[in-house]
Amino acid sequence: MKETKTGCLFVVATPIGNLEDLSPRAQQVLDHVDLIAAEDTRHSGRLLAHFNIDASLISLHEHNETERTSGLLKRLHAGDNIALICDAGTPLISDPGFRLLQEARRAGLAVSPIPGPCAALAALSVAGLPTDRFVFEGFLPAKTAARMQRLQGLAQEQRTLVFYVPVHQLARQLGNMVEVFGEHRVATLARELTKLHETISHGTLGDLQELWQRNPSQHKGELVLVVGGAQEAETTVDELQQLVSILLENMGPKQAAQSAVRISGCARNRAYKIALELAGMR
Ligand code: SAM
Repeated sequence: MKETKTGCLFVVATPIGNLEDLSPRAQQVLDHVDLIAAEDTRHSGRLLAHFNIDASLISLHEHNETERTSGLLKRLHAGDNIALICDAGTPLISDPGFRLLQEARRAGLAVSPIPGPCAALAALSVAGLPTDRFVFEGFLPAKTAARMQRLQGLAQEQRTLVFYVPVHQLARQLGNMVEVFGEHRVATLARELTKLHETISHGTLGDLQELWQRNPSQHKGELVLVVGGAQEAETTVDELQQLVSILLENMGPKQAAQSAVRISGCARNRAYKIALELAGMR
């Protein structure tokens, strides 16, 4: 007979490439729950088959999460244990599950994490950049104007920045970052982590841009870009305005911006923007 106490929602991390990264505890939970809610049931079916786990699967993805949530909550209330998994890595980290978790919390249901792979943390762990404080930015907006605005807002961020980047957008996004953060900002590009063709490249944003252009054979797979934070001593807007203003007394806006970049080490587009604004006021 079924127990009447409510079930538990397990949030289970799955491999981001290497199947051996599925922890024994994750295997055990996936093998014992009554139901697995998976982003793509066919994709997860292959993972489960590899571990001989014969489970009942239901899809939960960004397009059906709202309608699925109430049914899953009912089953938890009825005492079923449910595991939530995504295609790769940790659910809810740029992946579905937020609404379900929010509602399960609201309903006072038991929720338990089964931790494991996460591309952002795996990349950060090998980036060689400060990890005591970092910011996970996930995917940048696809539209250029919104992306540039997001990057401008991060230009003075001193903590290490972690981005997920679709491979076909890397060249463009690196270009945007060079424009906003400056080409000298250090960064690590982690590609195909835990997989056969794993590559981890470190250098300045300018170096990574050049490296990417030189290696078209690498333009496939999955990427995490980890970018060092702004230096504390980075020129403030006021300081930069003052510097450009003095330079404009003796040269045109283009030259003033170039000189300001050389003197302060600030990003080109910051100096150009200020030079044009100040020149327009004269
Ligand atoms: N929830 C996942 C996690 O915990 O990492 C992230 C899912 S998000 C939809 C997919 C993105 O994660 C990819 O576009 C890529 O940026 C990153 N990613 C996933 N697997 C990766 C891998 N093996 N190597 C590098 N990046 C990876």
